[in-house]
Amino acid sequence: MQPINEKDKLAAQRRDMVLNQLQIRGIKDPELLKVMGSLHREDFIPAEFRDQSYADNPVPIGAGQTISQPYIVALMTQELKVNKYCDVLEIGTGSGYQTAILASLARHVYTIERIQRHSISAQQVLNALNISNISFHIGDGTCGWPTDKQFDRIIITAAAPDLPKPLADQLKIGGLAILPVGPELVQELVAMEKTPDGFKTRTICGCRFVKMIGKFGYTE
Ligand code: SAH
Repeated sequence: MQPINEKDKLAAQRRDMVLNQLQIRGIKDPELLKVMGSLHREDFIPAEFRDQSYADNPVPIGAGQTISQPYIVALMTQELKVNKYCDVLEIGTGSGYQTAILASLARHVYTIERIQRHSISAQQVLNALNISNISFHIGDGTCGWPTDKQFDRIIITAAAPDLPKPLADQLKIGGLAILPVGPELVQELVAMEKTPDGFKTRTICGCRFVKMIGKFGYTE
């Protein structure tokens, strides 16, 4: 049957994204697939790019930043192994789409964004969706969360030279960090597990993110 209106069209594109971008490439976590199959990605996309809401690539969100490709969001989330007992620190709120997914799987998400207008716009979308287990901070995420809190998981959604020291310190022993490591144009997505003897690092795949700009990141 042909989709009859925009809502049906977007719903069809969302189902197609889950099947042909996520499941086909090995995303298996049923809870994650359910969340991504129900969350309206179009709510996080600027109006002029609404028709690209379920495109298999990053989409501009303004100020030179992008909302990550759906598959990368899914892969990073799956690799982060989030559960209802996890406090998650996210660097790079951006559109808030990844934040919303994490919030539905975790106990609480603490998210930092350096560009004020992105953080405010994400806060508006997430409030409208009644997602309340999120704390927002506007500032340089490379310096960590501005209290001495420790986290079970850390996710960085911008290219980092390495895991910034303040973030490494705020990760609990036994905790996991997922981040793209490398220079501006091409990075490796890595999983870093914090053990009592230091970090164990595993490379997941190649990837391409915008730069993480800050004291312990890159310069503008
Ligand atoms: N997860 C987001 C990705 C946004 S792109 C999404 O899918 O929408 C990366 C974001 O990281 C950008 O919004 C950028 O402004 C932000 N960023 C870059 N350096 C940062 C830093 N040091 N602290 C916080 N946010 C940062």
